[in-house]
Amino acid sequence: MTKVVITAGHSNTDPGAVNGNVTEAEVATDMRNIVAYCLKDLGIDAVTDGNGSDNDTLRNAIKLIKQGDVAIEFHCNAFHDRRASGVEALAQPKDKVICQKLCEAVSDVMGIPVRGSAGGFKAENSGQHSRLGYVREGGIILELFFISNPSELATYQAKKWPLAREIADVIADHVGIGCKP
Ligand SMILES: [Zn+2]
Repeated sequence: MTKVVITAGHSNTDPGAVNGNVTEAEVATDMRNIVAYCLKDLGIDAVTDGNGSDNDTLRNAIKLIKQGDVAIEFHCNAFHDRRASGVEALAQPKDKVICQKLCEAVSDVMGIPVRGSAGGFKAENSGQHSRLGYVREGGIILELFFISNPSELATYQAKKWPLAREIADVIADHVGIGCKP
């Protein structure tokens, strides 16, 4: 049986990046919940690192990775220059194609750039989440957008449901459930 792991970056005690009263951990938890809901609609039960507002620690999220055919953790990028923008995904080379599809989906729905020259894919030793255990253990870190960019944050808040639906569709296709014969 196909299993998908969906986790939220940071935790109940680690907010991650912050913009005003919005934390990266809240955005990640929100997206985890909505994507899990959309996956259920597609007949996929996702393994998550908590329910509702619960966001378990990275250490425990990492332990879930091996339970899935694919494991994705949501994060936001942040930069001191508020104009920094776009989506990217950190992963091992085995996940390059799904990373590119996820980034394309986020870019399409939010109207934001795909970062870098590899369709948003970045090897684990690049970016501010470098050397994170999540990627080393075989998971994907999807940096949805820049929380430090007010326009991207507003777009996320307006479009998180269609965004989650597109992300769920990419995951379903990847694990062979969304594909029509
Ligand atoms: Zn993060």
